[in-house]
Amino acid sequence: MAKQTFVIVGAALAGGKAAEELRQGGFDGQLILIGAEPERPYERPPLSKDYLRGESERENAYVHPGGYYGEHHIDLRTETEVTAIDPGAHTVTTSGGEEISFDKLLLATGAEPRRIPVAGADLEGIYYLRSMADCDTLRERLQSGATVAVVGAGWIGSEVAASARQKGLEVTMIDPLDVPYENILGAEIGAFYRDVHAQHGVRLLLGDGVESFQGNGRVQRLQTTGGETVQCDFAVVGIGVVPRVQLARQAGLEVDNGIVVDARLTTSSPDVFAAGDVANAWHPFFEQHIRVEHWANALNQGPAAARSMLGEEISYDRIPYFFSDQYDVGMEYSGHTPSWDEVVFRGDREGGEFIAFWLHGGRVIAGMNVNVWDVNDKVQALIRSRRTVDRAALQSQDVSLDELAGSAV
Ligand SMILES: Cc1cc2nc3c(=O)[nH]c(=O)nc-3n(C[C@H](O)[C@H](O)[C@H](O)COP(=O)(O)OP(=O)(O)OC[C@H]3O[C@@H](n4cnc5c(N)ncnc54)[C@H](O)[C@@H]3O)c2cc1C
Repeated sequence: MAKQTFVIVGAALAGGKAAEELRQGGFDGQLILIGAEPERPYERPPLSKDYLRGESERENAYVHPGGYYGEHHIDLRTETEVTAIDPGAHTVTTSGGEEISFDKLLLATGAEPRRIPVAGADLEGIYYLRSMADCDTLRERLQSGATVAVVGAGWIGSEVAASARQKGLEVTMIDPLDVPYENILGAEIGAFYRDVHAQHGVRLLLGDGVESFQGNGRVQRLQTTGGETVQCDFAVVGIGVVPRVQLARQAGLEVDNGIVVDARLTTSSPDVFAAGDVANAWHPFFEQHIRVEHWANALNQGPAAARSMLGEEISYDRIPYFFSDQYDVGMEYSGHTPSWDEVVFRGDREGGEFIAFWLHGGRVIAGMNVNVWDVNDKVQALIRSRRTVDRAALQSQDVSLDELAGSAV
Protein backbone atom coordinates (compact mmCIF):
# COMPACT_ATOMS: atom_id res chain seq x y z
CA MET A 1 0.00 0.00 0.00
CA ALA A 2 1.25 3.48 -0.85
CA LYS A 3 2.45 5.52 2.08
CA GLN A 4 -0.03 8.00 3.46
CA THR A 5 0.40 11.75 3.88
CA PHE A 6 -0.70 13.47 7.07
CA VAL A 7 -0.74 17.27 7.12
CA ILE A 8 -0.82 19.43 10.24
CA VAL A 9 -1.76 23.09 9.89
CA GLY A 10 -0.42 25.18 12.78
CA ALA A 11 3.13 24.53 13.96
CA ALA A 12 2.88 25.46 17.62
CA LEU A 13 2.34 23.37 20.75
CA ALA A 14 -0.67 21.30 19.64
CA GLY A 15 0.70 20.79 16.13
CA GLY A 16 4.27 20.09 17.24
CA LYS A 17 3.24 17.58 19.89
CA ALA A 18 0.86 15.89 17.44
CA ALA A 19 3.72 15.43 14.96
CA GLU A 20 5.85 13.91 17.71
CA GLU A 21 3.07 11.51 18.69
CA LEU A 22 2.47 10.44 15.10
CA ARG A 23 6.10 9.40 14.73
CA GLN A 24 6.16 7.78 18.16
CA GLY A 25 2.97 5.95 17.27
CA GLY A 26 4.68 4.42 14.25
CA PHE A 27 3.37 6.60 11.46
CA ASP A 28 5.95 6.18 8.70
CA GLY A 29 4.24 8.09 5.90
CA GLN A 30 4.87 11.66 4.81
CA LEU A 31 4.29 14.11 7.65
CA ILE A 32 4.04 17.80 6.80
CA LEU A 33 3.84 20.39 9.57
CA ILE A 34 2.93 23.84 8.26
CA GLY A 35 3.21 27.03 10.30
CA ALA A 36 2.76 30.70 9.45
CA GLU A 37 5.36 31.87 11.97
CA PRO A 38 9.10 31.92 11.25
CA GLU A 39 9.79 29.85 14.39
CA ARG A 40 9.69 26.12 14.90
CA PRO A 41 7.01 25.11 17.45
CA TYR A 42 7.36 26.88 20.79
CA GLU A 43 5.41 27.30 24.01
CA ARG A 44 3.84 30.66 24.77
CA PRO A 45 3.68 30.77 28.61
CA PRO A 46 7.26 32.16 28.96
CA LEU A 47 6.29 35.08 26.70
CA SER A 48 4.44 36.84 29.52
CA LYS A 49 6.76 35.58 32.28
CA ASP A 50 10.49 34.81 32.47
CA TYR A 51 11.31 35.23 28.77
CA LEU A 52 9.50 38.58 28.66
CA ARG A 53 11.56 39.73 31.64
CA GLY A 54 14.77 38.56 30.02
CA GLU A 55 15.28 35.88 32.68
CA SER A 56 15.18 32.79 30.48
CA GLU A 57 16.72 31.80 27.18
CA ARG A 58 14.72 31.77 23.98
CA GLU A 59 15.87 28.19 23.44
CA ASN A 60 13.94 27.05 26.53
CA ALA A 61 10.64 27.99 24.91
CA TYR A 62 10.92 25.60 21.95
CA VAL A 63 8.96 22.37 22.01
CA HIS A 64 11.82 20.36 20.44
CA PRO A 65 15.53 20.87 19.79
CA GLY A 66 16.40 22.40 16.42
CA GLY A 67 17.41 19.15 14.73
CA TYR A 68 14.34 17.21 15.87
CA TYR A 69 12.16 17.66 12.80
CA GLY A 70 14.82 16.63 10.31
CA GLU A 71 15.81 13.64 12.41
CA HIS A 72 12.22 12.44 12.54
CA HIS A 73 11.51 13.13 8.88
CA ILE A 74 8.93 15.74 9.72
CA ASP A 75 8.67 18.18 6.84
CA LEU A 76 8.41 21.41 8.87
CA ARG A 77 7.47 24.36 6.69
CA THR A 78 7.70 27.63 8.59
CA GLU A 79 6.55 31.04 7.28
CA THR A 80 4.00 29.17 5.23
CA GLU A 81 0.34 29.97 5.54
CA VAL A 82 -2.36 27.57 4.51
CA THR A 83 -4.91 29.65 2.65
CA ALA A 84 -7.55 27.01 1.92
CA ILE A 85 -8.47 23.44 2.73
CA ASP A 86 -10.74 21.16 0.78
CA PRO A 87 -11.88 18.24 2.94
CA GLY A 88 -13.71 16.57 0.03
CA ALA A 89 -10.76 16.67 -2.36
CA HIS A 90 -8.34 16.07 0.55
CA THR A 91 -6.10 19.02 -0.32
CA VAL A 92 -4.64 22.08 1.36
CA THR A 93 -3.38 25.12 -0.52
CA THR A 94 -0.49 27.21 0.76
CA SER A 95 0.25 30.91 0.39
CA GLY A 96 2.90 29.96 -2.17
CA GLY A 97 0.16 28.45 -4.33
CA GLU A 98 1.18 24.86 -3.68
CA GLU A 99 -1.57 22.26 -3.42
CA ILE A 100 -0.80 19.39 -1.06
CA SER A 101 -2.87 16.22 -0.92
CA PHE A 102 -3.51 14.63 2.44
CA ASP A 103 -4.99 11.43 3.75
CA LYS A 104 -5.60 12.95 7.16
CA LEU A 105 -5.45 16.57 8.25
CA LEU A 106 -5.08 18.15 11.68
CA LEU A 107 -6.10 21.75 12.20
CA ALA A 108 -4.12 23.24 15.10
CA THR A 109 -4.45 26.87 14.08
CA GLY A 110 -4.86 28.18 17.63
CA ALA A 111 -6.22 31.57 18.50
CA GLU A 112 -5.33 35.21 18.00
CA PRO A 113 -5.74 38.29 20.18
CA ARG A 114 -9.05 40.09 20.08
CA ARG A 115 -8.48 43.62 18.78
CA ILE A 116 -9.81 46.60 20.67
CA PRO A 117 -12.34 48.57 18.61
CA VAL A 118 -11.82 52.09 19.95
CA ALA A 119 -10.58 55.39 18.52
CA GLY A 120 -6.81 55.62 18.32
CA ALA A 121 -6.31 51.85 18.47
CA ASP A 122 -4.03 52.01 15.45
CA LEU A 123 -1.54 54.40 17.06
CA GLU A 124 2.00 53.15 17.40
CA GLY A 125 3.02 51.80 20.78
CA ILE A 126 -0.14 49.74 21.33
CA TYR A 127 0.88 46.10 21.57
CA TYR A 128 -0.75 42.69 21.64
CA LEU A 129 1.06 39.63 22.93
CA ARG A 130 0.71 36.29 21.21
CA SER A 131 3.85 35.43 19.30
CA MET A 132 7.53 35.37 20.06
CA ALA A 133 7.91 38.32 17.68
CA ASP A 134 5.32 40.26 19.73
CA CYS A 135 7.25 39.37 22.86
CA ASP A 136 10.61 40.44 21.42
CA THR A 137 9.10 43.85 20.61
CA LEU A 138 7.61 44.17 24.08
CA ARG A 139 10.85 43.13 25.77
CA GLU A 140 12.53 46.19 24.30
CA ARG A 141 9.89 48.41 25.89
CA LEU A 142 10.08 46.88 29.35
CA GLN A 143 12.60 49.42 30.62
CA SER A 144 12.63 50.54 34.23
CA GLY A 145 10.96 53.91 34.76
CA ALA A 146 8.69 53.67 31.71
CA THR A 147 4.93 53.85 32.15
CA VAL A 148 2.64 51.24 30.65
CA ALA A 149 -1.13 51.02 30.44
CA VAL A 150 -2.29 47.41 30.50
CA VAL A 151 -5.75 47.04 29.02
CA GLY A 152 -7.50 43.94 30.33
CA ALA A 153 -6.82 42.22 33.66
CA GLY A 154 -7.21 38.67 32.31
CA TRP A 155 -4.33 36.19 32.40
CA ILE A 156 -2.19 37.87 29.74
CA GLY A 157 -2.79 41.39 31.06
CA SER A 158 -2.17 40.34 34.67
CA GLU A 159 1.03 38.51 33.85
CA VAL A 160 2.32 41.37 31.73
CA ALA A 161 1.47 43.82 34.53
CA ALA A 162 3.35 41.64 37.03
CA SER A 163 6.38 41.29 34.75
CA ALA A 164 6.38 45.04 34.06
CA ARG A 165 6.31 45.83 37.79
CA GLN A 166 9.12 43.36 38.35
CA LYS A 167 11.11 45.25 35.72
CA GLY A 168 10.47 48.55 37.50
CA LEU A 169 7.83 50.10 35.25
CA GLU A 170 4.89 52.18 36.41
CA VAL A 171 1.78 50.13 35.58
CA THR A 172 -1.89 51.05 35.30
CA MET A 173 -4.23 48.13 34.59
CA ILE A 174 -7.75 48.80 33.34
CA ASP A 175 -10.62 46.32 33.23
CA PRO A 176 -14.40 46.65 32.99
CA LEU A 177 -14.93 43.97 35.64
CA ASP A 178 -15.03 44.96 39.31
CA VAL A 179 -12.24 42.50 40.08
CA PRO A 180 -9.98 40.49 37.76
CA TYR A 181 -11.41 37.18 36.41
CA GLU A 182 -14.74 37.89 38.14
CA ASN A 183 -16.69 36.35 35.25
CA ILE A 184 -14.79 33.06 35.29
CA LEU A 185 -13.62 32.64 38.89
CA GLY A 186 -15.93 34.83 40.93
CA ALA A 187 -15.55 37.81 43.25
CA GLU A 188 -13.45 36.16 46.02
CA ILE A 189 -10.56 34.99 43.84
CA GLY A 190 -10.83 38.21 41.85
CA ALA A 191 -10.44 40.27 45.03
CA PHE A 192 -7.42 38.19 46.02
CA TYR A 193 -5.66 38.93 42.71
CA ARG A 194 -6.73 42.58 42.79
CA ASP A 195 -5.02 42.90 46.17
CA VAL A 196 -1.91 41.08 44.95
CA HIS A 197 -1.49 43.61 42.14
CA ALA A 198 -2.28 46.58 44.37
CA GLN A 199 0.29 45.38 46.93
CA HIS A 200 2.87 45.25 44.15
CA GLY A 201 2.17 48.83 43.15
CA VAL A 202 -0.10 48.42 40.14
CA ARG A 203 -2.64 51.22 39.80
CA LEU A 204 -5.93 49.45 39.12
CA LEU A 205 -8.80 51.07 37.29
CA LEU A 206 -11.51 48.45 37.68
CA GLY A 207 -15.09 48.72 36.52
CA ASP A 208 -13.74 50.98 33.80
CA GLY A 209 -13.00 50.63 30.10
CA VAL A 210 -11.01 52.32 27.38
CA GLU A 211 -12.80 55.08 25.53
CA SER A 212 -9.90 56.04 23.26
CA PHE A 213 -6.16 56.09 22.83
CA GLN A 214 -4.58 59.43 22.11
CA GLY A 215 -1.21 60.67 20.92
CA ASN A 216 0.70 62.19 18.10
CA GLY A 217 1.24 59.17 15.86
CA ARG A 218 2.30 57.24 18.94
CA VAL A 219 0.14 56.53 21.98
CA GLN A 220 0.75 58.97 24.85
CA ARG A 221 -2.37 58.53 26.93
CA LEU A 222 -5.71 56.81 27.04
CA GLN A 223 -9.08 58.05 28.09
CA THR A 224 -11.31 55.73 30.10
CA THR A 225 -15.07 55.48 29.85
CA GLY A 226 -15.13 56.55 33.51
CA GLY A 227 -13.42 59.83 32.60
CA GLU A 228 -9.86 59.05 33.77
CA THR A 229 -6.83 60.01 31.73
CA VAL A 230 -3.95 57.55 31.88
CA GLN A 231 -0.57 58.80 30.64
CA CYS A 232 1.59 56.06 29.18
CA ASP A 233 4.73 55.48 27.11
CA PHE A 234 3.05 52.45 25.58
CA ALA A 235 0.05 50.17 26.07
CA VAL A 236 -0.50 46.41 26.06
CA VAL A 237 -3.95 45.11 25.19
CA GLY A 238 -5.01 41.71 26.51
CA ILE A 239 -8.76 41.42 26.07
CA GLY A 240 -9.03 37.77 25.13
CA VAL A 241 -8.48 35.68 22.04
CA VAL A 242 -10.60 34.41 19.20
CA PRO A 243 -10.13 30.97 17.66
CA ARG A 244 -8.68 30.93 14.13
CA VAL A 245 -11.54 29.22 12.34
CA GLN A 246 -11.37 30.88 8.91
CA LEU A 247 -10.01 27.82 7.09
CA ALA A 248 -12.55 25.52 8.68
CA ARG A 249 -15.43 27.89 8.06
CA GLN A 250 -14.54 28.43 4.41
CA ALA A 251 -14.31 24.66 3.99
CA GLY A 252 -17.81 24.22 5.39
CA LEU A 253 -16.75 22.40 8.55
CA GLU A 254 -18.97 22.86 11.57
CA VAL A 255 -17.82 25.92 13.49
CA ASP A 256 -19.30 27.18 16.72
CA ASN A 257 -16.99 28.94 19.18
CA GLY A 258 -14.11 27.12 17.49
CA ILE A 259 -13.99 24.09 15.25
CA VAL A 260 -16.54 21.63 16.57
CA VAL A 261 -15.08 18.16 17.20
CA ASP A 262 -16.31 15.04 18.94
CA ALA A 263 -14.48 13.23 21.76
CA ARG A 264 -12.27 11.60 19.10
CA LEU A 265 -11.31 15.13 18.03
CA THR A 266 -12.81 14.55 14.59
CA THR A 267 -14.47 17.47 12.83
CA SER A 268 -17.66 17.22 10.81
CA SER A 269 -15.44 15.79 8.04
CA PRO A 270 -14.11 12.33 8.99
CA ASP A 271 -10.48 12.75 7.87
CA VAL A 272 -10.08 16.20 9.38
CA PHE A 273 -9.23 16.65 13.07
CA ALA A 274 -8.74 19.67 15.31
CA ALA A 275 -6.91 20.22 18.59
CA GLY A 276 -5.70 22.99 20.90
CA ASP A 277 -7.08 26.50 21.32
CA VAL A 278 -9.08 26.24 18.09
CA ALA A 279 -11.03 23.07 18.99
CA ASN A 280 -14.42 23.10 20.66
CA ALA A 281 -14.40 19.48 21.75
CA TRP A 282 -17.12 17.29 23.18
CA HIS A 283 -16.10 16.55 26.73
CA PRO A 284 -17.38 13.15 27.86
CA PHE A 285 -17.01 13.94 31.57
CA PHE A 286 -18.70 17.35 31.53
CA GLU A 287 -21.07 16.23 28.75
CA GLN A 288 -20.80 19.42 26.74
CA HIS A 289 -18.54 21.01 24.17
CA ILE A 290 -15.64 22.87 25.76
CA ARG A 291 -12.98 25.01 24.08
CA VAL A 292 -9.94 25.37 26.29
CA GLU A 293 -7.43 28.17 25.65
CA HIS A 294 -4.64 26.81 27.79
CA TRP A 295 -1.23 25.24 27.51
CA ALA A 296 -2.03 21.81 28.97
CA ASN A 297 -4.88 21.32 26.54
CA ALA A 298 -2.65 21.98 23.53
CA LEU A 299 0.03 19.77 25.06
CA ASN A 300 -2.30 16.79 25.53
CA GLN A 301 -4.98 17.24 22.92
CA GLY A 302 -2.51 17.49 20.03
CA PRO A 303 -1.12 14.01 20.76
CA ALA A 304 -4.63 12.67 21.41
CA ALA A 305 -5.69 13.89 17.97
CA ALA A 306 -2.61 12.18 16.52
CA ARG A 307 -3.65 8.86 18.05
CA SER A 308 -7.12 9.35 16.65
CA MET A 309 -5.59 10.02 13.21
CA LEU A 310 -3.75 6.71 13.59
CA GLY A 311 -7.08 4.97 14.06
CA GLU A 312 -7.03 4.54 17.83
CA GLU A 313 -10.44 4.77 19.52
CA ILE A 314 -9.70 7.70 21.79
CA SER A 315 -12.03 9.69 24.00
CA TYR A 316 -10.39 12.91 25.13
CA ASP A 317 -11.66 13.57 28.63
CA ARG A 318 -8.86 15.35 30.48
CA ILE A 319 -10.06 17.82 33.08
CA PRO A 320 -9.21 21.31 31.81
CA TYR A 321 -6.12 22.62 33.61
CA PHE A 322 -4.14 25.83 33.57
CA PHE A 323 -1.54 27.66 35.57
CA SER A 324 -0.48 31.25 36.09
CA ASP A 325 2.52 32.88 37.74
CA GLN A 326 2.34 36.47 38.91
CA TYR A 327 5.07 37.91 41.19
CA ASP A 328 5.54 35.26 43.89
CA VAL A 329 2.01 33.90 43.47
CA GLY A 330 1.78 30.65 41.54
CA MET A 331 -1.42 28.79 40.97
CA GLU A 332 -2.91 25.80 39.21
CA TYR A 333 -6.57 25.45 38.32
CA SER A 334 -8.50 22.39 37.23
CA GLY A 335 -12.12 22.05 36.28
CA HIS A 336 -14.90 23.69 34.39
CA THR A 337 -17.28 26.20 35.91
CA PRO A 338 -20.01 27.54 33.65
CA SER A 339 -21.88 28.23 36.91
CA TRP A 340 -21.43 27.41 40.57
CA ASP A 341 -23.19 27.81 43.91
CA GLU A 342 -20.29 28.86 46.15
CA VAL A 343 -16.53 28.90 46.53
CA VAL A 344 -15.09 27.18 49.59
CA PHE A 345 -11.56 27.82 50.85
CA ARG A 346 -9.08 25.56 52.61
CA GLY A 347 -5.86 26.94 54.05
CA ASP A 348 -4.46 30.40 54.64
CA ARG A 349 -6.40 32.81 52.47
CA GLU A 350 -4.90 35.92 54.04
CA GLY A 351 -1.38 34.55 53.68
CA GLY A 352 -1.99 33.55 50.07
CA GLU A 353 -1.54 29.80 50.51
CA PHE A 354 -4.84 28.07 49.95
CA ILE A 355 -7.01 25.85 47.80
CA ALA A 356 -10.32 27.19 46.49
CA PHE A 357 -13.08 24.80 45.48
CA TRP A 358 -16.05 25.64 43.28
CA LEU A 359 -19.14 23.74 44.35
CA HIS A 360 -22.20 22.98 42.28
CA GLY A 361 -25.01 20.87 43.67
CA GLY A 362 -22.75 19.85 46.58
CA ARG A 363 -20.02 18.53 44.26
CA VAL A 364 -16.63 19.98 43.50
CA ILE A 365 -16.51 21.05 39.86
CA ALA A 366 -13.24 22.99 39.98
CA GLY A 367 -10.34 23.69 42.27
CA MET A 368 -7.45 26.13 42.37
CA ASN A 369 -4.34 25.72 44.49
CA VAL A 370 -2.50 28.96 45.17
CA ASN A 371 1.09 28.61 46.43
CA VAL A 372 0.18 25.12 47.61
CA TRP A 373 1.83 22.41 45.54
CA ASP A 374 1.48 18.74 44.61
CA VAL A 375 -2.28 18.73 45.18
CA ASN A 376 -3.74 19.38 41.77
CA ASP A 377 -3.97 15.67 40.88
CA LYS A 378 -5.98 15.19 44.05
CA VAL A 379 -8.23 18.11 43.13
CA GLN A 380 -8.84 16.45 39.77
CA ALA A 381 -9.60 13.12 41.45
CA LEU A 382 -12.12 14.89 43.67
CA ILE A 383 -13.81 16.42 40.61
CA ARG A 384 -13.85 13.07 38.84
CA SER A 385 -15.31 11.30 41.89
CA ARG A 386 -18.50 13.39 41.52
CA ARG A 387 -18.95 12.82 45.25
CA THR A 388 -21.11 15.08 47.32
CA VAL A 389 -18.73 16.67 49.79
CA ASP A 390 -19.25 18.03 53.25
CA ARG A 391 -18.46 21.73 53.24
CA ALA A 392 -16.76 21.67 56.66
CA ALA A 393 -14.65 18.68 55.65
CA LEU A 394 -13.60 20.47 52.48
CA GLN A 395 -12.47 23.46 54.53
CA SER A 396 -10.63 21.42 57.12
CA GLN A 397 -6.97 20.66 56.51
CA ASP A 398 -7.38 17.64 58.80
CA VAL A 399 -9.46 15.82 56.18
CA SER A 400 -7.37 14.66 53.24
CA LEU A 401 -8.51 15.31 49.69
CA ASP A 402 -8.01 11.59 48.99
CA GLU A 403 -10.53 10.81 51.69
CA LEU A 404 -13.03 13.26 50.23
CA ALA A 405 -12.55 11.73 46.79
CA GLY A 406 -13.00 8.25 48.24
CA SER A 407 -9.53 7.27 47.05
CA ALA A 408 -7.75 7.13 50.44
CA VAL A 409 -5.89 3.85 50.98
C1 LIG B 1 1.78 35.25 26.30
C2 LIG B 1 1.01 34.00 26.59
C3 LIG B 1 1.15 33.39 27.84
C4 LIG B 1 0.43 32.24 28.13
N1 LIG B 1 0.55 31.67 29.37
C5 LIG B 1 -0.15 30.57 29.69
C6 LIG B 1 -0.06 30.00 31.00
O1 LIG B 1 0.65 30.50 31.88
N2 LIG B 1 -0.78 28.89 31.27
C7 LIG B 1 -1.59 28.31 30.35
O2 LIG B 1 -2.23 27.31 30.65
N3 LIG B 1 -1.70 28.83 29.07
C8 LIG B 1 -1.00 29.95 28.74
N4 LIG B 1 -1.12 30.49 27.48
C9 LIG B 1 -2.02 29.86 26.48
C10 LIG B 1 -1.29 28.81 25.66
O3 LIG B 1 -0.08 29.32 25.21
C11 LIG B 1 -2.18 28.39 24.49
O4 LIG B 1 -3.25 27.68 25.02
C12 LIG B 1 -1.41 27.54 23.49
O5 LIG B 1 -0.44 28.31 22.85
C13 LIG B 1 -2.34 26.95 22.43
O6 LIG B 1 -1.57 26.23 21.52
P1 LIG B 1 -2.09 25.88 20.07
O7 LIG B 1 -0.99 25.06 19.46
O8 LIG B 1 -3.44 25.30 20.14
O9 LIG B 1 -2.28 27.26 19.30
P2 LIG B 1 -1.34 28.50 19.07
O10 LIG B 1 -0.29 28.56 20.13
O11 LIG B 1 -2.22 29.68 18.90
O12 LIG B 1 -0.62 28.20 17.70
C14 LIG B 1 -1.29 28.10 16.48
C15 LIG B 1 -0.29 28.24 15.37
O13 LIG B 1 -0.94 28.03 14.13
C16 LIG B 1 -0.43 28.95 13.19
N5 LIG B 1 -1.44 29.13 12.14
C17 LIG B 1 -2.70 29.62 12.27
N6 LIG B 1 -3.34 29.63 11.09
C18 LIG B 1 -2.47 29.14 10.19
C19 LIG B 1 -2.54 28.91 8.79
N7 LIG B 1 -3.65 29.17 8.10
N8 LIG B 1 -1.45 28.41 8.16
C20 LIG B 1 -0.32 28.11 8.87
N9 LIG B 1 -0.20 28.31 10.19
C21 LIG B 1 -1.27 28.82 10.85
C22 LIG B 1 -0.19 30.20 13.99
O14 LIG B 1 0.74 31.05 13.35
C23 LIG B 1 0.36 29.63 15.30
O15 LIG B 1 1.75 29.51 15.27
C24 LIG B 1 -0.42 31.66 27.16
C25 LIG B 1 -0.57 32.29 25.90
C26 LIG B 1 0.14 33.44 25.62
C27 LIG B 1 -0.03 34.11 24.29
